[in-house]
Amino acid sequence: MIDLRSDTVTRPTPGMLAAMTRAETGDDVYAEDPTVRALEERIASMLGHEAGLFTVTGSLANMLGIRTWVRPGQELLCESQAHVVRAELGGHAAWHGVTTRTWSHPRGRVDLDAMGSMLAPDAGPYLVSTAAIAVENTHNFAGGTVQPLADLEALRDLIDGTGVRLHLDGARLWNAHVASGTALALYGELFDTVSVCLSKGLGAPIGSVLVGPREAIGRARQWRKRMGAGWRQAGLLAAAGNYALDHHLDRLADDHANAQMIARLLAGVGVVDPGAVETNIVLLDMAAARLRPSELVETARAEGVLVAAVGPQTVRLITHLDVTADDCRKAAETLVRLLDT
Ligand SMILES: *Cc1c(COP(=O)(O)O)cnc(C)c1O
Repeated sequence: MIDLRSDTVTRPTPGMLAAMTRAETGDDVYAEDPTVRALEERIASMLGHEAGLFTVTGSLANMLGIRTWVRPGQELLCESQAHVVRAELGGHAAWHGVTTRTWSHPRGRVDLDAMGSMLAPDAGPYLVSTAAIAVENTHNFAGGTVQPLADLEALRDLIDGTGVRLHLDGARLWNAHVASGTALALYGELFDTVSVCLSKGLGAPIGSVLVGPREAIGRARQWRKRMGAGWRQAGLLAAAGNYALDHHLDRLADDHANAQMIARLLAGVGVVDPGAVETNIVLLDMAAARLRPSELVETARAEGVLVAAVGPQTVRLITHLDVTADDCRKAAETLVRLLDT
């Protein structure tokens, strides 16, 4: 099977497993796991922040980051296809009383005009007050798009002095960094909190990290425990994250090249514009295709290729560490054959 459903499907490599078994560990609920602490400090400093917190999922890192800034009944602004509002099962509302309003952008980008008109930092006793804005980079459901740095800088200017906080859902910030050449700290310093995933393109089996001011991360650590997600000898997992940062960051460029190759082959059957593919995600627009998304998923599966239907007209392919250029070519050729009339 060539599995292009997600970049979360990777298995730890032998080198990563060896690093995990060598890890020095301690009880992380007591903040005594040296490998976890090293990972938290390393990622905080890469992103230009004071402190970090290792979490089991990106959803948890986002929930802890956003709840740091948004009190129950206040609002978070985000893009309408954002993972925080579409794919975290309402966790921000269910656990922390966060309400949301959304703007829409076809490429998932920030829209300064829309945000400017929605922003209500101190809306008084009758309307909901805006406490934070979440931005996703790269933007998953918009197709792995990279937020232009200038837009993010303009957003920071827009909210400076309003008291509104900025959270970056950077599950794939690594991909944005490799694709754009923008330093991670340049992205990081524009936001009050940032979450990053180690279990996506970097290929670790489990784990995300939330970074931010030391005091805020201290509160997030308490909430993590309160939500039942404190963990003990988590250094076994943090070691995989440290290994991934050492060995799997630069190679994301290979995933991006493979996604481009897939996009160019599939452009032949009119379902994708290769110019719209910026990182490791390829969205197929099935509106005019001869198969529905679910039919393509099923027929491709029968030919050994796994892809995901992510909307009524959209199929998603994501390249990663466990698929070679050759696998990607074969998968794309299979899909072309299935879609060719
Ligand atoms: C995958 C992802 C997350 C976190 O997902 P988990 O499955 O909870 O680790 C958050 N944001 C984006 C944009 C993602 O793609």
